[in-house]
Amino acid sequence: MNCNCVRDNESRIADHYTELLGTPATAQAKNVAFMLGSKVSEAAYLPYAVKADKPGYRGAKGKEVSMFFSFCPFCGKSTEDEPAKA
Ligand SMILES: [Zn+2]
Repeated sequence: MNCNCVRDNESRIADHYTELLGTPATAQAKNVAFMLGSKVSEAAYLPYAVKADKPGYRGAKGKEVSMFFSFCPFCGKSTEDEPAKA
């Protein structure tokens, strides 16, 4: 991710629920994975349940496969590594 939307949203959600509930609350984004590329980064993904009549795919939840977002779902910025600045 080339933005801080996911982490910024954690703070916003924690603040919102702290006020709503009247007690300190925390929020942690799910579906965020560490990526090892030219640098360590984080990427958000959307899991899908694939169901088929094959071992590993038959359960009620099916087999989970994930697709990573190419763009931040909040601000639209590309999630690709930005080219190094000269
Ligand atoms: Zn963003």
